[in-house]
Amino acid sequence: MSSAADTIVLKNGRRIVAANVVEEGDRVSYETSAGKLSIPKSIVSRIEHDNLGSSFGSNSRSEPPVSAPQVEPVRGYDDVVHLTIHDNLIDFAYIARLESDARSNSRVAVEKVAAAHHAAAQFLIGKGDINSAIDHYRQALSFAPDNLGLLLNLSVLYLRQSQFSNALDPLEHARRISPDSADVAKLMGWAYYGANKMDRAVEEWKRAEHIQPDTEVEHALDKALRDKAEEESYREGETAHFALKYSGSATPDLARGILHALEDDFRDLESQLDYTPPEPIAVILYTDQAFADITRAPSWAGAINDGRIRIPVQGLSGVTSELAHVLKHELTHSFVGQKTHGRAPTWVQEGVAQWMEGRRSNNAAAALVEMAGQGHAPHLEQLEGSWLGLPSGAAATAYAYALAAVESIIQAGGVGDISRLLDRIASSPSMDSALRETLHSDYADLDQQTITYLRNEYVR
Ligand SMILES: [Zn+2]
Repeated sequence: MSSAADTIVLKNGRRIVAANVVEEGDRVSYETSAGKLSIPKSIVSRIEHDNLGSSFGSNSRSEPPVSAPQVEPVRGYDDVVHLTIHDNLIDFAYIARLESDARSNSRVAVEKVAAAHHAAAQFLIGKGDINSAIDHYRQALSFAPDNLGLLLNLSVLYLRQSQFSNALDPLEHARRISPDSADVAKLMGWAYYGANKMDRAVEEWKRAEHIQPDTEVEHALDKALRDKAEEESYREGETAHFALKYSGSATPDLARGILHALEDDFRDLESQLDYTPPEPIAVILYTDQAFADITRAPSWAGAINDGRIRIPVQGLSGVTSELAHVLKHELTHSFVGQKTHGRAPTWVQEGVAQWMEGRRSNNAAAALVEMAGQGHAPHLEQLEGSWLGLPSGAAATAYAYALAAVESIIQAGGVGDISRLLDRIASSPSMDSALRETLHSDYADLDQQTITYLRNEYVR
């Protein structure tokens, strides 16, 4: 979008920069990259028309609002870096030797461990393996818990994955170690912004600006203030549990229908999963094109939940049965994500979401049993991480298998077992122990139970 920008000045002094600002009856409407929004004219003081081109465009918070600072955890260990990464591989034996030296607690030995894990993490980031990079920083922090560079690098990886509350843990620790760090304030602002806590984001970025003025933070702060104003003035589409934003091609009828369906789903999930999310859930309806641009999701993902429920609704005028399934599915992700503090493996998330939306294994059972017979069945343990990189065939199998596993758990112990498993995932050190504590089984048992269930239930 490259049209001229106008500024809507609200009576409370806040300013919304937008394109195509039009007065329509008792409302003022304007365009954003997420579509057309409108606010009551009664709260608008004036509209300033600006004929200069503007850089207005992205209203998306999946783009990082600020850049990540480059912080080296330690300096002067080039030799360690070269011994850690060589021949395009990580030398785990070398890292293990450094860790064993570091148990003597000598400062230099601990610094070498930090340098080695930082090098390994950066190498893995280059390969796109963010989860393993996170593991390296966590491991390094077990030796050097107060290393500011390690804490900041770890938080940036969580932020890049939209794991905003996970990012806050290392950042809060970093704040205690270094209360006057502008980098800590900048990244905390990012975490709160991503988590839709505009007040806290504004507070942190003001703090960062106070410690060390920076034009990038200044722009982010402006944007957060605008978003805060927009969200405060845009009251349409709010219910007790949801805050909905929608694009120009979505009708108010569709928006109301969606909120109604979501409220019903909310009550159902609340009782089935024995959990109530503490904060309203943000829902954004997109036209298809805007959706692909903003989320960069692979084409097989119909909708996405990255903390906000994002749903493509192009061409819809009411809640079709397909859309109803999508809403229940995505809302389940919000419940599971919040109940487990973001720690649910992907197979749990997708298995429970599909089960709640009403999907069952009848179509996929025969193929999965056949794969198992040939020794090619998937393993749940390998379906813990992100599936966004999977080719579509492998993704389809992963979804089907995750559903089958959840179905077999519910058949054996009821949906209460899922609720208890989610509680354990939130608090257990590993998925293995969560499985043992609630289902008295391990991954191998559960793989076997799943295939046996499919065979008995569907394949005869
Ligand atoms: Zn899903």
